[in-house]
This record gives sequence, C-alpha cells and structure tokens, in this order.
Amino acid sequence: MRATLIYGAGDVRVENVPDPVLREPTDALVRVLRSCVCGSDLWPYKSRPATGQGDRIGHEFLGVVEDAGSEAGTLRRGDVVVAPFVWADNTCDFCREGLQTSCRHGGQWGADGVDGGQGEAVRVPQAAGTLVKLPVGEDSELLPSLLTLSDVFPTGHPLRGHRRSRPGHDGDGDRRRRGRADGGAVGQAARRRADHPDGPAHGTHRPGPRFRRHRRRRGAGR
Ligand SMILES: [Zn+2]
Repeated sequence: MRATLIYGAGDVRVENVPDPVLREPTDALVRVLRSCVCGSDLWPYKSRPATGQGDRIGHEFLGVVEDAGSEAGTLRRGDVVVAPFVWADNTCDFCREGLQTSCRHGGQWGADGVDGGQGEAVRVPQAAGTLVKLPVGEDSELLPSLLTLSDVFPTGHPLRGHRRSRPGHDGDGDRRRRGRADGGAVGQAARRRADHPDGPAHGTHRPGPRFRRHRRRRGAGR
C-alpha cells in the first residue's frame, strides 16, 4: 500500500510499504477513508534530523473495518470507525481515569511497528478499546467533519473547562492558554463547543468578558 514517511525536516515522501495484516487477536485492519495533517506533525516537519530511514507519520484517521481479530469486541467488517490520536485498551487503570495517553497496553501511531494514520490502511492494536463506530456509511458527506473527532475536537472540547479548573484563573486571566484556544482548528473546536446550545463543555463554566464578546459577535447571546 501507499503511505507517508518523514525522513527529516521538510522531507515527507509517499512510498510503498507492506500491507498491514492482523498480528494479534485484539487487532483490526482499517481501510483509511480520510486522514489529515495535525499541527503537531509540523514539529518534526520543521526540525526532525535527516535520516536514511523514514518514519511513518499521521495520527488522525477514520475508515472502514476490513478485518477484525477474535478479541476485537463487536467490531465487524464494514463498520465505519474513527480512531483517536493514540491507541489504548480503554480498560486499564489509567484508561478508566481518562488517561488513554498513558494506557498500560497502548501506544502511538507510527511507532514501534504500528502504522501511521497517513496511509491507505492501518493495523489498529487494541481495536475494541481504540476504535469508535460512526453511524454513517463510507460515502457519507459528513466524513471530513467526523474526522475532527479523531484529535481536533477532543483537544478543543475541554480547553475552556480545563482553564476553569485552575484555581485563581477566571477563564480569561491566563493569556498563554487563551492564546491556544484562539488559534487554529483546536481553537475553532473549543469555540464551537462553547457556542453550542447545550453550553460549554463544563456546566460550571462562567464566561469571562472576552468569551462574552465572542458570543455576542456570533449572535449567541450574552
Ligand atoms: Zn489502558
């Protein structure tokens, strides 16, 4: 299959790589329908030292299950699924605390023999805990929007609530974090979640003056 590899700063190539196959009963094979470049991909694109061996890259994708191991839960061939930016069993003590990035049996895409997300297919380890089924067909026009569920939206979703959770900060007092929320796709996701009729991600959110100005500009009330 074809996949992207990064060889160094400014050097990303599309090359032939081995087709993924099931290795563990907990694996699933996903044919990628949509993938994208994350802002965090730009760090290695800017600064990765040049090497003769390329690394697989990409950690945001959605696709169709083509095959699933015997311990891949309810996943079945034909399921449309989205993958979060790490793979995880979703059952260990860290995962139960919502810290899937520290999963005892998880890891990152494009490392340690696991495919990157920017390719034609991906072997997904711990598939039952990693993949989330999407209630759409593979020809859905919503796929580009649903791809944001992989990383952009989950990153932006808690931003305001996270700021609120820090004692001494009223949601507008932390300039560094505000800068993050005002940025690109993640900031957009945070704002759209905040503007949703259900309100901000955390019910205790008390919008500060900058947030209220933003809502007024968007015609979202106070
Ligand atoms: Zn875990």
